[in-house]
Amino acid sequence: EPHCGTDLGLMRTKAEPQADGTYKITGTKIFISAGEHDMAENIIHLVLAKIAGAPEGIKGVSLFVVPKFLVKADGSLGARNALICGSIEHKMGIHGNSTCVMNYDGATGYLLGEPHKGMRAMFTMMNDARLGVALQGLTQSEAAYQNALIYAKDRLQGRSLTGAKEPGKAADPIIVHPDIRRVLMNLKAFNEGARMLLLWCALQGDLSHVSTDDKERELGEDMMGLLTPVLKGYFTDMGFRNATDAQQVLGGHGYIAEWGMEQFVRDARIAMIYEGANGIQALDLVGRKLAMNGGRAVFAWFKLIDDFAQANKSAEMKPYVDALITVRKDLEEATTWMMNNGLNNPDHAGASSMDYLYLFALSGMAFAWAQMARAALPKSHGGTGAEYYQTKLATARYFVDRMLPDRLAHLAKIKTGAEPVMALKAEHF
Ligand SMILES: Cc1cc2nc3c(=O)[nH]c(=O)nc-3n(C[C@H](O)[C@H](O)[C@H](O)COP(=O)(O)OP(=O)(O)OC[C@H]3O[C@@H](n4cnc5c(N)ncnc54)[C@H](O)[C@@H]3O)c2cc1C
Repeated sequence: EPHCGTDLGLMRTKAEPQADGTYKITGTKIFISAGEHDMAENIIHLVLAKIAGAPEGIKGVSLFVVPKFLVKADGSLGARNALICGSIEHKMGIHGNSTCVMNYDGATGYLLGEPHKGMRAMFTMMNDARLGVALQGLTQSEAAYQNALIYAKDRLQGRSLTGAKEPGKAADPIIVHPDIRRVLMNLKAFNEGARMLLLWCALQGDLSHVSTDDKERELGEDMMGLLTPVLKGYFTDMGFRNATDAQQVLGGHGYIAEWGMEQFVRDARIAMIYEGANGIQALDLVGRKLAMNGGRAVFAWFKLIDDFAQANKSAEMKPYVDALITVRKDLEEATTWMMNNGLNNPDHAGASSMDYLYLFALSGMAFAWAQMARAALPKSHGGTGAEYYQTKLATARYFVDRMLPDRLAHLAKIKTGAEPVMALKAEHF
C-alpha cells in the first residue's frame, strides 16, 4: 500500500465478512507485479487485509484469494470481480512485467488459512520467492558475463602489457588486459560459486522434505531458513554489481541501448529491492535466523564446515580448506560479537547486519568452492577433460586469493558497532 511497504502492520485494506463465508475486500495496493495482463484467462490475486476487529499491527493481518473473474461451481468463469488496475508504473527496468496499482472496491475474497494468520501463510510463498529472486541475481550476473566475454574476445584495443598477442591484427583483443581479466574473473568466480551454493541449498530443501532421517530433515530445514536471506541479499547485490562491471567491459557501447548491457543493469536493480529490500534480509538474518532455536542453525553451519575440513586433509585440498576455516573463524567471531552486543543495543546489530550478511555469504562461497575443488582435483591431473578441471581449480584459487580477503573489511566494520554509524543527529545531515 502507498504508506506501507516493509512495515505491514500499517496496512489499511479491510475485509468485511459476508453471510456466505466470503469477504468484501476494499483498499489500494501498489507495486503489484503482473497485477493486470492479457496472458491468462483469469488472474488470481493473493491479498493481505485486516478483518474488522482484528488485533492491531501485523498480528491482525489475514490472507485472501481474490480472483479477477469469479469462478463458478463448475470451474467456468463468472462475473468480473470488483477490482481494477488503476495504473501501470513507469520504471527503471523489467519492462516485460507490468507493475500495477490495484484498487479493490468491495471485491469478493476467500480467506486462505486462518483469520489473522496471514503473515505466516504469506511467508510460505515469500520464502520460495526470495530464493527465486536470489536466482534472478545470479542469472543476471551470468547473462552479463557471457555478453562481456564475447565482447572482450572480439574488441581490438591496445596491446598486451607483455607484448603483442595478436601481432597480425591492428590491436590485441581487450581480454589480454589484466583489468578486463579482473572483471571477467570476478564474475566467473562469483557465478560458478554462487550456482554451486544455490544448488547445495536446493538439495537441503529436498532433504528437508524427503529424507527419512529426522536429523537430516531438521538440518535441511535449518539451512534453508538460515541461507534464504543470505542468498537473496548477496546474490542480488552481486547481480547488479556484476551487471555494471560487465557493462564497463563494453566501454561506451555498454551504455548504448543497442548492445543490451544497459538493460541488464536496469533489470538487475529491482532484485535488491523486492521480496524484502536487502537491508531487511540482513535484519532477518541477525534478528531472527541467528537466534532461532537457540542458534541451532548457525551452529549446524559451523559443524558442517568443521566436518568438511576434518574429512579433507590432503595437501592438495589445503589451500581451499585453510581458506574455508579462516572465514569460518571470522564468522564465528562476528556471530559471538553479534550475540554479545546486539541484544544490549539493537542498533549494533542493525549497523553491522549487512556486513554480517556478506561475511556469511563469503563463508558459503568458500564452502561451495572447496566442494568444487574436491570434485575437480582427482580429474585435473590428466586425461579427458583435465583442462576443464584445471580451469575450475584456477577459478577456485582466484576466489580464495582475490575475493575472500573482503572478509577482513567486513569483520572490522562489524566490530565497530553502531557508534560511527549513528553518531550524527538527524538534523546534522
Ligand atoms: C517493480 C516492483 C515490483 C514489485 N512487485 C511486488 C508484488 O508483486 N507484490 C508485492 O506485494 N510487492 C511488490 N513490490 C513491493 C516491494 O516488495 C517493496 O517495494 C519493498 O518491499 C520495499 O518496500 P517500500 O518500497 O515501501 O520501501 P520502504 O519500506 O519504505 O523502505 C525504504 C528503505 O528503508 C529500509 N527500511 C524500511 N524499514 C526498515 C527497518 N525497519 N529497518 C531498516 N531499514 C528499513 C528498506 O530496506 C529500504 O531500503 C514491488 C516493488 C517494485 C518496485
